[in-house]
Amino acid sequence: MTMDRDFRGMMTSIEKHQLQRVIEHLQELGYRTVGPQVRDGAIVYDDIASIEQLPTGQIDIQDGGTYRLQTDIEAGWFDYVVGPHSLKNYLFPPREPIQQLTLNANGWHAETPDLTEPPVAVFGLRACDLHALAIQDRVFLEGPYVDPQYKARRERLVIVAVHCRRAAATCFCHSMSTGPAVSGGFDLVLTELDDHFTVEAGTEVGAEVIEHLSHTPCTPAEIERSRQVSLDLLQEMQSRTPEGDSPRPRQLETDGIRDVLMQNLDHARWDDVAQRCLACANCTMVCPTCFCSTVGEVTDLTVEHVTRERTWASCFTGDHSYTASGVVRPSIKSQYRQWLTHKLATWIDQFGSSGCVGCGRCITWCPVGIDLTEEVAAIRGEGT
Ligand code: SF4
Ligand code: SF4
Repeated sequence: MTMDRDFRGMMTSIEKHQLQRVIEHLQELGYRTVGPQVRDGAIVYDDIASIEQLPTGQIDIQDGGTYRLQTDIEAGWFDYVVGPHSLKNYLFPPREPIQQLTLNANGWHAETPDLTEPPVAVFGLRACDLHALAIQDRVFLEGPYVDPQYKARRERLVIVAVHCRRAAATCFCHSMSTGPAVSGGFDLVLTELDDHFTVEAGTEVGAEVIEHLSHTPCTPAEIERSRQVSLDLLQEMQSRTPEGDSPRPRQLETDGIRDVLMQNLDHARWDDVAQRCLACANCTMVCPTCFCSTVGEVTDLTVEHVTRERTWASCFTGDHSYTASGVVRPSIKSQYRQWLTHKLATWIDQFGSSGCVGCGRCITWCPVGIDLTEEVAAIRGEGT
C-alpha cells in the first residue's frame, strides 16, 4: 500500500454509518477487526463485524471498586471511557504457547510455533491506551531481548483511536500528560461530533482506508471544533471539583514522585494499605503496562509432547519473588510496595518514564477500592 501524497494531518469528515465501511475494508485487507462492546455488564474488546455491536448510548460510571454501565440518550458511540481490557490482551495475551517440545530417538526437539493468526485492527483506543502501548513497546521491543510474538503482532497492528470527550472519576491522564487528546501512534483517529466523525490519518494505512470512503475534507471550523473537544475535556479534568454526591475526581502529583516513594520505604502507610489489600492481583491484570509473565509446561498423556506456555504473572503472588533462598516478598505490604514503587518510581530508572498512564483501571477493578493516587498523597503527607 503506497501513496504518492503526504497523508499527515489529513482530516476529513465522514457520516457515522461509514464506520461500517471502515470495518469491512479492513476485513477485506485481511485484518481481524476488534472493537468495544457490552458483555457481562462491562465494555470489553472483542471481534466486531458491525457498528451495531458498538456500545452506542452507554456510559460507564467508575470509582474505587465500582463500575456500572448506564444508558444515556445524550451519549454518542464512544462516550464510555475505558473497560478492563486493553491492547495488552491482544499483543501480549494472557496465555500463549511459546515452544513445542517433542521427544524422538535423538532426544527432545524444540520448535517455536509460527504466528499464523491474522493481523488485528482495534477500534476505540484512547490516548492513555496508546501511551501504554508505547511503554509496552519499550519493554518488549527495545531492550536487549526482543519478544518475537509481540513484535510480529505489533508490526501488523492497525489502530483506530478516539479522542475522549468524557472522563471517568478514576481517570488522571491529565496528571500523567498522557491524554485526553490522542497525540500520536494511531493509523486513524476519530473525533465524534454530533452527527458525524472527523477523521485524521496518522499513517499510510490510515490514509488508504479514508481513500476508500466517500468523504469530504474538513472545513477550518470543523478542524477547530474537533480540536476543542479534547481541550474542553482537559480543562474540565484540570479544574473539576466534587459536585454533590459525585465521586472525588482523581489527580496525581508527579513532581519528585520517584524520590518521595523511594525515600519512604518504611512509611506507616504501607502497613495501612496492607490491611486493605487482598493480594488478588486484579490491579496488575487490568493495568495496560504491567508485563510480568511466568512459563509453565503442559504434557500430553504420552509425555512425549510438551507445550511450553507463557501466562501473565503478578507481583502480588509469593511465587513471583521466589529465589534460591526462598520468597523475597512474602507479605502483602512488601508486594503492594513493590508494585507501587516499580510503577511510579523505579520504572523511571529502568525505562526512562513512569509505568503509569493514568487510565484508572487499577482503581476501578480493585475489589476494595484501593486508589494509588490516594496512597501517594498519603505518603506525601497530604490528607485523603
Ligand atoms: S497503574 Fe493503574 S492507573 Fe496507572 S496505568 Fe496501571 S491501571 Fe492505569
Ligand atoms: S491493590 Fe486491590 S486489586 Fe491490587 S492486589 Fe490489592 S486488593 Fe487486589
